[in-house]
Amino acid sequence: MTKIIIALVFIAGVTLIWRLTPSEQSLSEADLSLLINPDSTKQNGEMMEEKVIRTEEEWKKILTPEEYYVLRQKGTERASTGKYDKHFKKGVYKCAACDNVLFESDTKYDSGCGWPSFFTPLAKDRVIYEEDRSYGMVRTEVMCAKCGGHLGHVFDDGPEPTGLRYCMNSVSLKFEKKEE
Ligand code: FE
Repeated sequence: MTKIIIALVFIAGVTLIWRLTPSEQSLSEADLSLLINPDSTKQNGEMMEEKVIRTEEEWKKILTPEEYYVLRQKGTERASTGKYDKHFKKGVYKCAACDNVLFESDTKYDSGCGWPSFFTPLAKDRVIYEEDRSYGMVRTEVMCAKCGGHLGHVFDDGPEPTGLRYCMNSVSLKFEKKEE
């Protein structure tokens, strides 16, 4: 009897420790590639074009000061101020710096977080990820795979089917309407 009680107390202890372990951690690239809709690679047919490499001086000339701050200096637009936060027209969202097609309107949803949110990029090869430990947090930064521009972050509190929330800056995106 005593052995059973000890075993039960042990199981309860392990469960408690497991529950108290913080789950807030950045997503690994492997996690993300498993979670992202595998069919998304078929959409829009064409593969991503080759990378865009420019000097910071060149980017400064091409981008507006606001775009330069977000895309090249990893800035963040103020919550609920971006032009695409509550924008739900049908079309695609391109990178504002290099025109890489990043997201489709079908995968956009209202997360209420104050920034345009998507549950998957158009295809796996459109974005790249990096661990971001700034501001005392551990987050997963999302960048454009073609030009390296900063887009935002991805979190694991999104809706089905991926469970991911790509929390993007409107400034980093350029919407292109799709004719219905
Ligand atoms: Fe880009």
